[in-house]
Amino acid sequence: DNEIVLVGRSNVGKSTIMRELTGHAVPTGKKPGVTRKPNHFDWSGESFMFTDLPGFGFMSGVEGEHQETIQTDIVHYLEDNAEGILAAVLVVDGKSVIDIIDRHSERGNIPHDVEMFHFLEELDIPVVVAVNKMDKVDDKDQRLNDLCDRLGLFPPWQQWQDDTIAPITAKKGRINSLREALSHHLHEAKRDDL
Ligand code: GDP
Repeated sequence: DNEIVLVGRSNVGKSTIMRELTGHAVPTGKKPGVTRKPNHFDWSGESFMFTDLPGFGFMSGVEGEHQETIQTDIVHYLEDNAEGILAAVLVVDGKSVIDIIDRHSERGNIPHDVEMFHFLEELDIPVVVAVNKMDKVDDKDQRLNDLCDRLGLFPPWQQWQDDTIAPITAKKGRINSLREALSHHLHEAKRDDL
């Protein structure tokens, strides 16, 4: 399998990123959970499959219990398919991610984004954190350093920009850092096959 998964809260820009990466409109349907409507596309002369796992963390209009089910489905999907997953893109909203993480932490909860980051690492799935909506962020370096801190990555963030932290503005098509970080992992996966 040549699968790449996209995870992230509702409204962070997953569909927009998918469209920018694949170059075509993606029928999302906005169905939460593991919808398994994989989008095949060719990239750098190879064929990949992008799987959108929407609704992880929080999805508006979805009640608590159903939300739990979605969460569990996503976790199982990742566990069951980890072998064939080349990389994961964890999408966060650069404008709000720190506030959301800190609010959860203050309440004594583990923030979903942080939890997912570590879970993917545990499964040995390479993770790229796509920090989207950077057009809305003024103190870019500070924000990215804060994010590294929350994820347990040593600042400065620039240390992680080749393969882990990718600040982007998907809406304006500025996703080069994501492409580069992803291709880093895809090439690495290929090397491991040799
Ligand atoms: P999804 O729910 O994660 O699939 O998010 P969508 O791709 O549907 O995007 C949610 C909203 O965020 C839409 O209104 C997008 O236009 C907007 N959006 C996506 N990317 C960006 C970005 O880079 N900057 C800004 N300001 N808005 C964005």
